[in-house]
Amino acid sequence: MNQNITCLGIESSCDDTAASVVSVSPSQAEILSSVVFGQTNLHQHFGGVVPEIAARAHAERIDVAVKDALHQANLGLKDCDLIAVTAGPGLIGGVMSGVMFAKGLSASQNIPLIGVNHLAGHALTPRLTDNIAFPYLMLLVSGGHCQFLIVHGPDSFERLGGTIDDAPGEAFDKTARILGLPQPGGPAVESFAKTGDPNRFKLPRPLMDQPGFDLSFSGLKTALMRAKSEITKPDNTIQSSDISDLCASFQLAVSDVLTEKSRRALNHYKTFSSDVPTFAVAGGVAANQALRSSLEKLCEQSEVRFCAPPLNLCTDNAAMIAFAGAIQFRMGNKSGLDFVARPRWPLDTSQPSMLGSGKKGPKA
Ligand code: AMP
Ligand code: MG
Repeated sequence: MNQNITCLGIESSCDDTAASVVSVSPSQAEILSSVVFGQTNLHQHFGGVVPEIAARAHAERIDVAVKDALHQANLGLKDCDLIAVTAGPGLIGGVMSGVMFAKGLSASQNIPLIGVNHLAGHALTPRLTDNIAFPYLMLLVSGGHCQFLIVHGPDSFERLGGTIDDAPGEAFDKTARILGLPQPGGPAVESFAKTGDPNRFKLPRPLMDQPGFDLSFSGLKTALMRAKSEITKPDNTIQSSDISDLCASFQLAVSDVLTEKSRRALNHYKTFSSDVPTFAVAGGVAANQALRSSLEKLCEQSEVRFCAPPLNLCTDNAAMIAFAGAIQFRMGNKSGLDFVARPRWPLDTSQPSMLGSGKKGPKA
């Protein structure tokens, strides 16, 4: 298959309802449109994403997102050669909203369909934005995921390690909640951290003294809670400067562990990397400037190219799903109408599961 593939992508695995049209040729890809309807305002008051509210909001707006994406690309459904939809992992109600909608479109318009792993979408984004060569090292740091992957090919991913409990974005969000800051917590914590003293509170660096690439963030959040309660006044008040110091200390601890584990992952990867070794990041937490600069510095020292896709393609979006779907379709993969939405779907099934393996299988 040599020709261009025009692919409609649909994403609804967490709290972003997204649709995009991407044109993919064997040598390059072009994003013709990318529409993202965030749900922050719907979940803000609850201190986190409420799965039921998210699923309903996806079902209500997914058709509008698709219509807008087609309109902005100046195309109709009939011009699409493929529909790619996130089939997991994610909040199951949301994933189902997208999958059901995509199946309906595919069946009614007779357009081939492919279910895409959301993590593969993130992992392949550096190919879409910078066309970087395989194999590359990727750190995925988002609200729900954290793992080091060696991306060997469009459907070949090797997981070196990842979080054994919370994702970093989750830790930022919980930290914000503990400190009374708005959700999503990452930007708020980063903003307070700018004026804080990162060395005032000695927070732990979990798993740093252990070999390997695994990470842990749940203890860090508990340590922060303890540090806060020690400085909280009897009337339960806390100074703004204390909040800044707590945020800065927390952010430095997260950045320190992610940088140290990245150093180890890079050393491993460099033993078999390509001519231009590349370290790529993706996920909402990659927006954090302190973390970005620390990883950039590490890459400079290690003489490895650093690739951080633009923020709108680092966070959840449908262009990455359309792109991943198109290149996997080109390899001969496609889905029937009977594929299921999956709450859990590890990219590298050869590795033991990292997080509690429930009835539906391992999460990552
Ligand atoms: P995603 O899961 O990729 O949609 O990204 C959302 C997550 O990224 C949330 O947990 C946010 O708190 C986190 N996030 C967004 N911006 C930042 C930032 N500047 N620093 C740290 N975390 C962030
Ligand atoms: Mg999101």
